[in-house]
Amino acid sequence: MKKLLVANRGEIAIRVMTTAKKMGIKTVAVYSTADRNAPHVRFADEAIFIGESPSNKSYLLGSKIIKLAKKIGVDAIHPGYGFLSENADFSEEVAANGMIFIGPRAKAIKIMGSKLAAKEAVKNYDIPMVPGIDNAITDVNKAIEISKEIGFPILIKASAGGGGKGMRVVEKESELEEQMTRAISEATSAFGDGSVFIEKYISSPRHIEIQIMADSHGNVIHLFERECSIQRRHQKVVEEAPSSVLTPELRKKMGEAAIMVAKSCDYLGAGTVEFLLDDKNNFYFLEMNTRLQVEHPVSELIAGVDLVEIQIKVARGEKLSIKQEDLKIKGHAFELRVYAEDPLNDFLPSVGTLDVYKLPQGKGIRVDNGFEEGMEIPIYYDPMLSKLITYADTRNEAMELMLKAITNYKVEGVQTTLPFGKFVFEHEAFRSGNFNTHFVKDYYSPELLEGKIKEEAKLAAIIALKKYLKDKEILRVNS
Ligand code: ADP
Ligand code: ADP
Ligand code: MG
Repeated sequence: MKKLLVANRGEIAIRVMTTAKKMGIKTVAVYSTADRNAPHVRFADEAIFIGESPSNKSYLLGSKIIKLAKKIGVDAIHPGYGFLSENADFSEEVAANGMIFIGPRAKAIKIMGSKLAAKEAVKNYDIPMVPGIDNAITDVNKAIEISKEIGFPILIKASAGGGGKGMRVVEKESELEEQMTRAISEATSAFGDGSVFIEKYISSPRHIEIQIMADSHGNVIHLFERECSIQRRHQKVVEEAPSSVLTPELRKKMGEAAIMVAKSCDYLGAGTVEFLLDDKNNFYFLEMNTRLQVEHPVSELIAGVDLVEIQIKVARGEKLSIKQEDLKIKGHAFELRVYAEDPLNDFLPSVGTLDVYKLPQGKGIRVDNGFEEGMEIPIYYDPMLSKLITYADTRNEAMELMLKAITNYKVEGVQTTLPFGKFVFEHEAFRSGNFNTHFVKDYYSPELLEGKIKEEAKLAAIIALKKYLKDKEILRVNS
């Protein structure tokens, strides 16, 4: 492998190219009109223009990217996450054109891309699943019957859903018909597939996922868990590894279950098997994401590996060089997703220009970043600016480091999730490890955050005033 194209943008494009460079592989970036001056373009050895700003006119044009890649002698394509990463046809077309797709084969992507097909595939492996049905449902009466059996509340889910979209909680029978009609129409317009199904709504779960890695020689390992329970709109904002609630026994059990899921679809490369864990420590298979995950850095830090490097090696056909028994958890890592979103306004995207943009630095601080000062935030894509990651010997130290890093991360011009992150890392429930996926609903309100921000501003003003008076005093004494 001599030349690698990253079919993505922003921080993940830079993240992947960093490892490729380290391995002596030439890098190629792709970009849309909006991204012509983006850092990922300058970071690459070569860059090709792929089209207009909307992603369906650029980053989602698989065939076009493949054609252009072939022209300049690319021999491998890394899809990052989002965009084409879970597109089975793309994986197949890359291979059919004589290039290496850095990810699983089309069959595995297809199975795991559908939550229903995934349940079907893992059924025979004795893996606990959320109670519910395992086929698409359209008949309201049948849905009512099933929901009564499972017991309300239930969750209607889109089989093709992702990114926290396409889910509806139904509390009682009288709401079911309306919610189902909406869910089907939403799934059809958002995912081009109206299949929905029903799951029991687990009341206070934690989201725990296992990182796995598979080579083409039948070896599969897991690289421990990530805890991703701090979510807004069913989407993660804060992640950590290891989880503070997993015992070594439970970790082993969930790790083995994840490996079975990978084996059920003849998996290749990096993947994530997601589970819900209830308050009695029962775990249930949710879905598998067939790609590198946004929050992969926390696993890299505690396991001491470079996941992209392993992805590239197994894609080249090499055997995994690490064995399960060689892996040990060392230290504790956190990740805060820094989104250009307003935590005081329902986490809505905050558009604008990064008038000030300064990253924190120091031992144990890693920022996977795709932006720089002066840049405008394109409205066309996911508004994630960077991932702020901290790593230390203990959970407490890594938390303190995160708070320090948040303070030293300077952003002006747009609102971000940084103040929300500070709120989380200062919150007693989070600090004690006693939280679940309802953290935001249970503990967070914009008023609380606003109050805290005002209080801090007041405190800062008092400190400044005291200093001023003291300086004046010194002046008087000295003159
Ligand atoms: P992860 O699953 O890696 O923890 P996300 O759920 O935020 O993180 O998804 C990663 C990226 O992929 C995000 O940019 C998200 O918007 C996008 N994404 C995931 N699934 C889908 C989907 N089915 N349709 C559109 N975008 C998706
Ligand atoms: P996506 O493809 O959007 O990532 P997931 O199935 O992974 O969908 O679920 C995303 C999040 O939604 C979970 O982390 C959890 O917070 C919530 N969730 C999903 N299924 C259930 C369930 N059966 N009960 C309670 N919460 C759920
Ligand atoms: Mg998920």
